[in-house]
Amino acid sequence: MKLSKRLQAVANQVLQGARVADIGSDHAKLPIWLVENAVSDFVVAGEVAKGPFEIAQEACQEISGIEVRLGDGLSVLQAEDGVDTVVIAGMGGVLISEILERGPLDGLKRLILQANNEEAELRKWLMEHDWMIAQEEILEDKGKIYELMVYQRGEEVLSDKELTFGKNLAGPVFEKKWQKGLVEIEKIQSLHFQTELEAEKKKIEEVLSERR
Ligand code: SAM
Repeated sequence: MKLSKRLQAVANQVLQGARVADIGSDHAKLPIWLVENAVSDFVVAGEVAKGPFEIAQEACQEISGIEVRLGDGLSVLQAEDGVDTVVIAGMGGVLISEILERGPLDGLKRLILQANNEEAELRKWLMEHDWMIAQEEILEDKGKIYELMVYQRGEEVLSDKELTFGKNLAGPVFEKKWQKGLVEIEKIQSLHFQTELEAEKKKIEEVLSERR
């Protein structure tokens, strides 16, 4: 099983020996990779949609250590699973925070999250529910930029800027993401100048110069 650069970055954040749930697993590529590469010997692949669930079931039928379960979010987990690590990747940030809100989160030590958008809302939810950043990464895969966030239990207060831009993200891909953000704001402003957007632009410029 060869993973995309994005999913490989997610897989690399799973600690050796972790008991994992991959929520919204789609075709269960990540669980298959984790078990085949002996990173984990127990992975729950959770899927809410019947089509992907059936494809995942078929793909995993000969692989021991993967349980494919149909259901919403973390409701597919049972206490006896002893899952300590949850992966939720490839969904919007608000949808991820809604899945976490519904829980249950008992016994979880590590969350590996890759939101396709609305990362700030997700960081805010995590901060308000006593999760702190363990690791952050930004990467480009097939022309798209992705942020990867790894959280562990703990209290941490992030500033407004850190909620938007991440705590420690920097580097060429970070620069590219936010330069694009600036271009988008300028495009909107060329049609209709808006003071709030000017403040947003200033914030991006400040963070870019702080993190160079
Ligand atoms: N995680 C994979 C990845 O990163 O490549 C697949 C991402 S795919 C775009 C999102 C998947 O999440 C879909 O298969 C969808 O059915 C599933 N999904 C959406 N909401 C869900 C929920 N509440 N519980 C479980 N799965 C969900």
